[in-house]
Amino acid sequence: MQYRSTRGTVANAKNAAEAVIQGLAPDGGLYVPVDFPHPEFSLEQLSGITLQQASSLVLSWLMDDWSAEQRTASIHRAYCSQWDDPAITPLTKKVGGNYFLELFHGPTLAFKDVALQLLPQLMTRAVKLMGLDRKIVILTATSGDTGGASMDGFSNVDGTQVVVFYPHHGVSPVQLHQMRSLPGDNLTPVAVDGNFDDAQQNVKQIFNDPQLRAELAAHQLQFSSANSMNIGRLIPQIAYYFYAYGQLLARHDISAGDQVNFTVPTGNFGDILAGYYAQKLGLPVHRLVCASDQNNVLTDFFTTGKYDRRRDFTVTNSPSMDILVSSNLERLLFDTANGDDQRVAALMSQLQRRGFYQVSDSEKDFLDSHFAAGYADEQLVRDEIHRSYHQDHYAIDPHTAVASAVARQYQEDSGDETPMVIISTASPFKFPETVYYSITSKAVDEPGLPAIRQLQQLLGGSLPRGVANLFNRQDRPQRVVDPAAMSGLLETILF
Ligand SMILES: *Cc1c(COP(=O)(O)O)cnc(C)c1O
Repeated sequence: MQYRSTRGTVANAKNAAEAVIQGLAPDGGLYVPVDFPHPEFSLEQLSGITLQQASSLVLSWLMDDWSAEQRTASIHRAYCSQWDDPAITPLTKKVGGNYFLELFHGPTLAFKDVALQLLPQLMTRAVKLMGLDRKIVILTATSGDTGGASMDGFSNVDGTQVVVFYPHHGVSPVQLHQMRSLPGDNLTPVAVDGNFDDAQQNVKQIFNDPQLRAELAAHQLQFSSANSMNIGRLIPQIAYYFYAYGQLLARHDISAGDQVNFTVPTGNFGDILAGYYAQKLGLPVHRLVCASDQNNVLTDFFTTGKYDRRRDFTVTNSPSMDILVSSNLERLLFDTANGDDQRVAALMSQLQRRGFYQVSDSEKDFLDSHFAAGYADEQLVRDEIHRSYHQDHYAIDPHTAVASAVARQYQEDSGDETPMVIISTASPFKFPETVYYSITSKAVDEPGLPAIRQLQQLLGGSLPRGVANLFNRQDRPQRVVDPAAMSGLLETILF
């Protein structure tokens, strides 16, 4: 397997190991397969497949530099006792007519654990494969969940150092505590006095700063990324789409070849892109429904073909989806543009310079044949949490509620009766304030950890392992930095 930049030529293609270590292509583009594989497998064979088996299949198709033994060992370590459900990513029975694929049973209670428990294993093996004698610096901008999940995944992993930039007032109390309290000598969380887009924009620039790269190399260091811009983050996420399909087959809820829809609560467009890649690999997916919160730039894009980030940024109760520039959309554009890297580079430069771009009619047709889109504002999110709890007896977090509300809207508007799987991206305990308020119409007494206890009393049952661990950890002092000073601070941290 060879990977090329969405903005560069095939001549600069890299193998998977190198693409994983680099994270982002030097020209600012994202790595995509040069030849997308069309693997031979029978859909019957997916029936009852475990998440580990699904990962094994997907990695064998897309990451062939690692030996089968190395892949198996990595998967085994990534998906074991740190998860509080033996299925790792269990699929619920029908709840209110739809299925929920629960991706939040890992150590940091959000779906990013699925990829970030695996990525450190893949990356450290990639460093060995490439024969590199360098320490890898994982540089991450986070809207809240990637930070905690990458710090957990890389905590005390030899040969790695993690620096996480998060928006100072843009993450939830539990997310903040998670990031500030994770143990590990190689972890540095930093608050940015700005929003997620400010953080991500600067991280991209730091990444592509040739002078800084040279300085790093002189110190035997190299940047990599744990954002979904890294294909090593994206590829593990493809597996759970196969797993969900296999579960539906095993339960005889569908027959081999039947199509399935997925609704995905979307921010940086990584999770839903993994679903699109699953479809490209041969999974019978009818529609991928892109669900946004009040920052609904993607809903407008899928409706009109115009991507326009010139609008106000809103901090909502689904902070991990508060994004105006969804990086991974670039990988989809690469396909809508038929692999024309210059077209992608031109669109991205328009977005950068003018704040918008417009796709052509034929490109729009391509999008329509795979995707639908909708959004939920904060009131609808609260209503959906309330409805789901009181009507279906199922507690959901605000991100999942965005997806659930949008899925129901889509089904009502389109009349599409294809079985629907809603991607459930976070535990309700990760956002206890909103969940508690939505269910009871009363505010919690105190946000953060006490709110978790209060929600637990309401919902009953015991706390998930990842939540219980939060109560025993102390916060580090908080570092706050101006967006313009991120690069300078990084140098003081690293050198
Ligand atoms: C990151 C995140 C999302 C958005 O996923 P993308 O891959 O960025 O689109 C949705 N929900 C939760 C809880 C998240 O942490």
